[in-house]
Amino acid sequence: MLGIQQLTEKIKARELSAVEVVEKFNKTIAASKLNSFITPTPQQALAQARQIDEAITKGEKVGSLAGVPVAIKDVIVTKGIRSTGGSKILDNYLPPYDATVVERLKQAGAIIVGKTNCDEFAMGSSGENSGYGPSNNPWDKTKVTGGSSSGSTAAVAAVECVAALGSETGGSVRQPASFCGVVGLKPTYGRVSRHGLMAMTSSLDQVGPLARTVTDTARILQVIAGQDERDATSSRQSVPDYLANLPKDIKGMRIGVAAEFFADGLQAEVKELVEKAIAKIKSLAATIVEVSLPSLEYALAAYYVICPSEVSANLARYDGIRYGGRAGVESLADLYTKTRGQLLGAEAKRRIMLGTYVLSAGYYEAYYRQALLARQVIKKDFDKIFNKVDILATPTTPTTAFALGSKLADPLSMYLADVYTVPVNIAGLPAISLPCGLAGGLPVGLQLIGPAWSEDKLLQVAYQYEQSERWREQLPPGVKSVY
Ligand code: GLN
Repeated sequence: MLGIQQLTEKIKARELSAVEVVEKFNKTIAASKLNSFITPTPQQALAQARQIDEAITKGEKVGSLAGVPVAIKDVIVTKGIRSTGGSKILDNYLPPYDATVVERLKQAGAIIVGKTNCDEFAMGSSGENSGYGPSNNPWDKTKVTGGSSSGSTAAVAAVECVAALGSETGGSVRQPASFCGVVGLKPTYGRVSRHGLMAMTSSLDQVGPLARTVTDTARILQVIAGQDERDATSSRQSVPDYLANLPKDIKGMRIGVAAEFFADGLQAEVKELVEKAIAKIKSLAATIVEVSLPSLEYALAAYYVICPSEVSANLARYDGIRYGGRAGVESLADLYTKTRGQLLGAEAKRRIMLGTYVLSAGYYEAYYRQALLARQVIKKDFDKIFNKVDILATPTTPTTAFALGSKLADPLSMYLADVYTVPVNIAGLPAISLPCGLAGGLPVGLQLIGPAWSEDKLLQVAYQYEQSERWREQLPPGVKSVY
């Protein structure tokens, strides 16, 4: 299978045409049994591919992703292409503009092959909260893909696209990446523009790339990272060359390991494979240092107060009036009740109610303020860790992918799937998940966490580990690469 660079080189050298490449992916997507796409865009993709081929024929300069088929999570808006956010309330929504990340991908020559399935407004850990049905895990179709970037991850794993965009609030790129055996990166808060990303928890949301290799992940991040005047929370911090460090060895780098990430609830095979991966990193001449994140136990509780609070405010805009679906016209109350009652899913409603409750007078101090204090404690714990080490290595998730339907009746057990990913979002840090083996035929993910703006270092350690193993060459059973 080709990496992004080899693929674009072949297209630029006219050994392959972008149209040919896109036709193959369109076919694969049409034949997919994974429910990974809500809206495939074969015609638009072909039109874009023709433009790229024409530009190359004319000798015009094309971008670093020229002719590369990418998929976009449906919570990221695309001009004139239906963007549902996984919600029936936006079933017919055609955005009038492209999200900044989409604009940047297109400018770099990437080709959008479709909009991918996801949990409604990115709320979920299994893909099962989508208004369009769950996606299936390509390694075992009876298992969840993880979520909320369910379709983007399944599509990358099953080679229905070369790379994809997902979004993160509490683990939605890394957790499905771990379940589906691909690489997923959550950037530092502010690294990537949120303009055009449907708001779920604005103080945590970030767009992140999914790809099959660390190098391809770096290439996508390179294109989407950087300040955007349309998002005041995007940072002016300069964007380094994410590819420059990849070949450099990690001799002497200090890798932290915290016992809290290896405690009860961690599946034995996951523990074993992650420990093996850490030993491998050590053998690359890194130093392993024991550290501690005592506040890990507060992270989920804080997240499930902060997130619903912001959800209750952000989802107020879906009121049946300005845009999106509408039900009930008898009276104003009827309009609100029916529209929101009928067109929002159970998890969205649960979070709106939870958020409204914890923000209400009398409970605000007890819940929301406490959660914000916990957030500070978690941040400080991470600061202490990164005074001692360069990077922290942990499992991405406590278990491998679970069976479809198995956690639907118990939201709390579903929330636990994010226990190792959520603290990173709470602290605004970057982290990457990459494959480190198979347990019972299902992928296991290694998570590397770094201080703010350390994406280059994370990618470097991830790359050095990736090159020392061959996990990246494994494809799910029955999956064949078309390029
Ligand atoms: N699974 C978590 C949730 O349900 C995280 C979702 C996300 O990162 N978007 O909120």
